[in-house]
Amino acid sequence: MFVAARTSQTNMVKKTKIVATLGLVSDTKETLRAMIENGMNVARLNFSHGDHEWHGKAIKTIRELSAEMNVPIGILGDLQGPRIRTTVTEPVEMKTGETIILSDVFYGESVTSKLAQAKSFLLDTPKIVDDIEIGHEILIEDGLMKLVVKERETGILVCEVIDGGTVKNRKGVNIPDSQLKISAVTPKDERDLKFLMENEVDFIGLSFVGSGEDVKYLRGKMKEFLGREDNLPHIIVKVERKEAIKNLDSIIDQTDAVMVARGDLGIEIEGTRVTLLQKEIVRKSLHKMKQVIVATQMLDSMIINPRPTRAEIADVTNAVIDHTDAVMLSGESAGGKYPVESVRTMRDIIQHTEASPFDDVTGLLKLDGKDDFKNLVKGAFDLAKNSDCRAIILATASGFTGRMMSHFRSEKPLFVATNSQKACNQLTLAWGVQPFYGDEKDLSVLLDKMVAYRKQTGQLADGDKVIVVFGSAKDNKEKMQMVGVKTI
Ligand code: PGA
Ligand code: MN
Repeated sequence: MFVAARTSQTNMVKKTKIVATLGLVSDTKETLRAMIENGMNVARLNFSHGDHEWHGKAIKTIRELSAEMNVPIGILGDLQGPRIRTTVTEPVEMKTGETIILSDVFYGESVTSKLAQAKSFLLDTPKIVDDIEIGHEILIEDGLMKLVVKERETGILVCEVIDGGTVKNRKGVNIPDSQLKISAVTPKDERDLKFLMENEVDFIGLSFVGSGEDVKYLRGKMKEFLGREDNLPHIIVKVERKEAIKNLDSIIDQTDAVMVARGDLGIEIEGTRVTLLQKEIVRKSLHKMKQVIVATQMLDSMIINPRPTRAEIADVTNAVIDHTDAVMLSGESAGGKYPVESVRTMRDIIQHTEASPFDDVTGLLKLDGKDDFKNLVKGAFDLAKNSDCRAIILATASGFTGRMMSHFRSEKPLFVATNSQKACNQLTLAWGVQPFYGDEKDLSVLLDKMVAYRKQTGQLADGDKVIVVFGSAKDNKEKMQMVGVKTI
């Protein structure tokens, strides 16, 4: 049989991870329990919605369930970032070809007489009109409406309507052509970040990132709020601006992980290029040894329907074949009718795909050959691939060696033990890693404990051969790796 399943469905753990956004339809303990049972690995809290009380409760519930169910779950606090929105008192109807005058909340009052000369509305970001030039496009509400700037004076932009529609209050605005001088961390983001640091979440989402400098700035703020240099939450940059595509290399170099945020990205660049960019970003992240998430509209129709479209199934299947670390649910799990079914559907697609030979990619990760530590981990990967061992078992203090091994996309199970709770939670995002936490100081004692646990779950048995990898820390940096073969 051509498309034979290599692994029996019963004892198979999926390797591609699921990030699910929480919302009002998924904030009860029962629903969250069902989402974890069906394969959610990371819970995403979207700070564009909800207050600190709601988010705090969700964090507490997830932490409780993770402990009760003995399943590591990562928590991602996704900052809203500098999203630009419309400000109107009454909806403004714009016809294609008409002239519209734009200003912002900083200049608005001083230019009222000019605004009165035509239909007009404001943007909610002070002084934003200063950065927008003649010929630049302004897109409103998911790109449904489009304007182009024809003339500008201090405080106003005279625009032609290219795609008409009705502008309502607080709708999202994308301005892809302009070099916007807005900070990637707004005052609201700072308040949310403080709250997220107090709650010790595992990942921070940086929305609308524009440059590597933005990532450095956020990391500086995190250190300032936490009052420590290490054991920080991991930064997940959201690639969703034209500007981020330009600066992709430096952004990925600075970050811990990447999200292909296809929603805004598909507005800022032609939607028809998004799939190819997704493949490029996934590959680049993999080569730079950073985790990567493919996000937005993956099972969009499941917001209202119990079953996805064939095209949505194909989308998830292809992301798995791209070897992304994780796929993400947004409205499907945060505001739709079928939050649990969406997670289960995603898991089923992942498992079918991973069991298929179409999923196999060898030599995915190229190494430059100079880094001894990477080469040692690569050696362990090759050893596991070529031997009849049952699994790779790995001990790591910071998670670093576990993530490094994950990037080789090993078909053999990868069991990772760590004595850092945060590292364990962060490993939930890494492809193929089955993380295990224990507070033993001695990593070899912890490794034995993990092996005993995996024997209990039936994933390992007496007499199995395993490849053993130790990542040990030196000068606060985990670098010293050791590799061996062992019968357990
Ligand atoms: P958002 O980000 O859901 O916070 O907008 C994801 C995206 O733009 O795809
Ligand atoms: Mn977005």
